[in-house]
Amino acid sequence: MLINHVLESSQTEFRNFNVCPHCEWNGEEALLCRLSEGLPMISRSDGRNFHLLLADRPLPYSAERNEGRTQKTSACFWYLYGADRSATKSLVVLFECATGGKANIYRQIEFIADVLAEELARHQSLAVFYNMQGERILELAY
Ligand SMILES: [Zn+2]
Repeated sequence: MLINHVLESSQTEFRNFNVCPHCEWNGEEALLCRLSEGLPMISRSDGRNFHLLLADRPLPYSAERNEGRTQKTSACFWYLYGADRSATKSLVVLFECATGGKANIYRQIEFIADVLAEELARHQSLAVFYNMQGERILELAY
């Protein structure tokens, strides 16, 4: 099933932290770690129920089908809803690469993180795969 809807991004209360306010609130180990260092910390939380963070540096994505010359980038996020850190889940978002280098890519990822945080706050879970086109997000649900 392919769901196509326009999502609104709104600013979550806590942004781009290393020590998670939600994990602290729940009495858990609060320091967030990632697969690789040296990339901007992009994280979101409402301070109570969830956190979401960029897990690794974005990678070029080769689509299986040839959809023209559009270069796509994939970004992997981790998120946790609730208190149990062993319940952390991951998801991948594909998006079209903006021109203008790394700063622009991370600006896009900031926007995506806002959208995902809004979705997570509303539905308490996320799909495993999203395709972002401008401000539209395609969710691949199973
Ligand atoms: Zn947390």
